[in-house]
Amino acid sequence: MAQPSILVVEDEDALATLLQYNLEKEGYRVSVAGDGEEALARVEEAQPDLVILDWMLPKVSGIEVCRRIRARGESRNLPVIMLTARGEESDRIRGLDTGADDYVSKPFSMTELTARVRAVLRRIRPGLAEDRVQHGDLSVDRVAHRVRRGGREVHLGPTEFRLLDYLIQHPGRVFSREQLLDAVWGSEVYVEARTVDVHIGRLRKALGADTAPNPIRTVRSAGYSLDLEG
Ligand code: CA
Repeated sequence: MAQPSILVVEDEDALATLLQYNLEKEGYRVSVAGDGEEALARVEEAQPDLVILDWMLPKVSGIEVCRRIRARGESRNLPVIMLTARGEESDRIRGLDTGADDYVSKPFSMTELTARVRAVLRRIRPGLAEDRVQHGDLSVDRVAHRVRRGGREVHLGPTEFRLLDYLIQHPGRVFSREQLLDAVWGSEVYVEARTVDVHIGRLRKALGADTAPNPIRTVRSAGYSLDLEG
């Protein structure tokens, strides 16, 4: 199953490592950026599902990173949890209109942080946190690994399941073959981009694209998008 991906932006190595370790243990895919500039580049390339953003960062401050994330169309709705220092600093940052979805004051416990991550994901991207996701006449049950279309059961191979599970989390969003490879096959695996086309073809066939509306749109020279409404 494609797990939500989290970008941790923290310049303190020890804390970044601790966050990565604990979030991976919870099943998230985690990448780390050490400063604000790197964070903005990562958001653009990797399109994470959530960002944990330290306020005090070298080069570009956490507040500025958050504002720039909000200013870009593609990342406007990206959930951001801001990490702040204790006391006055956290009161001040809460009073500023940074656009963060939640704030966690340092020092914090990992239990508290992972609970906030789950809550933000559930609120903002219900598709990422729920066991069942629905889009049009398609439904995916992640616990039972079952897919239905218009009430009929659809049998999918494991790769097609992960592919659909990933696409249904972001209906309407266009993903390049490279982005789908990273999310579904993992960035450590070498697979040719054409492999994505093969599995998209199988997925379409299994979903009955020859008799019912094709749920997966091919966007020429860009990639694929799950779109039953468009
Ligand atoms: Ca810092």
